[in-house]
Amino acid sequence: MLFHSTRGNDSGKDFATVLMQGLADDGGLFMPDHWPQVDLEEIKSKTSFIDVAKCIVPLFTASSFSYAETIKIVEDTWHDFEHSDLVGIQTFDDVSILELFHGPTAAFKDFGLQLAAAFFNEVLESENKTAIVLGATSGDTGPAAIDACKGYKRIKSFIMLPNGNMSEVQRRQMSVIDADNVFALRINGTFDDCQDLVKHAFRQRDFLNPDQYLLAVNSINWTRIVGQICYYFYAFNRLHSKGDLNFSVPTGNFGNVFACYSAHQMGLPINKISVAVNNNDILHRFFSENDYSKQTVQETISPSMDISVASNFERLVYDFFLDRDASECAKLFNQFPVQAIKLDEDVWKRKNELFSSSKVNDEHTQKLIQETYAAHDYVLDPHTAIAMDEALKKSNENMHYIVLSTAHPAKFPKVYEELDINIPSTPKALMGLYDQTEKLHTFDAQYDQIVNFINQNNPEVNV
Ligand SMILES: *Cc1c(COP(=O)(O)O)cnc(C)c1O
Repeated sequence: MLFHSTRGNDSGKDFATVLMQGLADDGGLFMPDHWPQVDLEEIKSKTSFIDVAKCIVPLFTASSFSYAETIKIVEDTWHDFEHSDLVGIQTFDDVSILELFHGPTAAFKDFGLQLAAAFFNEVLESENKTAIVLGATSGDTGPAAIDACKGYKRIKSFIMLPNGNMSEVQRRQMSVIDADNVFALRINGTFDDCQDLVKHAFRQRDFLNPDQYLLAVNSINWTRIVGQICYYFYAFNRLHSKGDLNFSVPTGNFGNVFACYSAHQMGLPINKISVAVNNNDILHRFFSENDYSKQTVQETISPSMDISVASNFERLVYDFFLDRDASECAKLFNQFPVQAIKLDEDVWKRKNELFSSSKVNDEHTQKLIQETYAAHDYVLDPHTAIAMDEALKKSNENMHYIVLSTAHPAKFPKVYEELDINIPSTPKALMGLYDQTEKLHTFDAQYDQIVNFINQNNPEVNV
């Protein structure tokens, strides 16, 4: 299985190349040349998350890794999870919560990033090279990327975070790491400023040592999606007796929803995918009004979903709406965001087969947290609460909904102080964050300052 770009001018790439490259040469996103099909009876027979993942990951890696190599990575990769089977499930009436926050950074991003980092390292080992990971984060990507890469000596991570709306827990997760190959860079600016700096760095590449890779950890990296596809099949393994699946997914960059859609294309019997967003509603405007247009970011109490555009959405447009017409896709996305995207009416209406969407503001998010707490003595994190809205409205005797719980509530303590709710337990992963000193390097949003810092901390060494 090889991969190609959604914009038609980069194709025939193997898994390792796509992994290390991130974005396609033509600015598009990589897609598998076809959707591998999964044997559902086999999935049903598995008894653990890892065993389910072993049926999924090799389907995408075969062009670069032997089956045995991939299986070994799947067995060894996911680490420091507090739940013995990695994913927890809670069921209340007609709603189940798929708890994806039991990893070392208490958010679902550990699933994708730990897998990507393990494959990064595998490629670096085999080519005897080193890499710089450069990323921008507004919340949970940074901690998960740092944690996933910190054990690999061949990788140095520089993660930029804005001086803005991010919980103190999220910030400390990046600033108290005790590892000499990890750097948290606080930028006097917004998340968009951080992203612009990263984009500029990827064009310039003027700080890299000879033969050094520059790696992206943003949610368009295909391997992250692969790691996330696994838990949709795991949900089927555990909950298939409840009939066809309906998922409600809190989303920002559309990575997690695209993983859900991928699982559907691979044969998972999914009835509906609910796309749940906060006030940053570009996706909701698309699904409800056929208007995909960029607006300024609003700060909310679900900061990991505060985005102005949803990068992975291009993959859905290409695969689902345009039947893989790359030239049509390139036309739309080469002009975006200057020109908003509006599909032909009959093409857009296809969404009704599989998707619905909802938008939940902060006040209603708080209400959903309170109601769930009162009814079930269960504390939803603010992102999860947003996905709860559709699930509660749509679930009934004939329709079971699975809500993806993307973070542990203890990452957002301020939200619960205001609601006067005690978070019942703090995951091990978040304990002690306040006892350690923060190591933050602060910079203005200026490329030269960042490059200087990277150069100082990136001596050429033999590994
Ligand atoms: C990143 C994140 C999201 C959004 O995920 P996407 O894949 O970008 O849609 C939702 N909730 C939490 C807690 C996150 O960290």
